[in-house]
Amino acid sequence: MNKIEHIGIAVKDLEKSIPLFELILNTKCYKTELVESEKVMTAFFKTGENKIELLQATSAESVIHKYIEKKGEGTHHIAFDVENIEQEISRLQNLGIEMIHSKPKDGADNKLIAFIHPKSSNGLLIELCEEKK
Ligand code: ZN
Repeated sequence: MNKIEHIGIAVKDLEKSIPLFELILNTKCYKTELVESEKVMTAFFKTGENKIELLQATSAESVIHKYIEKKGEGTHHIAFDVENIEQEISRLQNLGIEMIHSKPKDGADNKLIAFIHPKSSNGLLIELCEEKK
């Protein structure tokens, strides 16, 4: 895994959270994007080499909605940049790590993504992402 690509933060209300994070991070949100398959609206910020992704549920069935109900707003996942996501998924599966997605899927911000099941990673939700070429 190359580096932390972004940190995902679950929020209830992007309209309020975007200006708040613009103030805190002292930078403008550079992109908002709907991820239909996950039923989330995302907003991205760049801080040097790193990115922050805010996630708001667009439906009660969204995992983000369920997460906030259970744990409240806050850090939701850490995403690592990988060279070859399919290889990385097989490497982890061969180690007995359970994946939520055993095949890469389309994510926000031009990425292929897959999540490791948090029960295989001490409760930390880890996302793998590969920049689409
Ligand atoms: Zn993410």
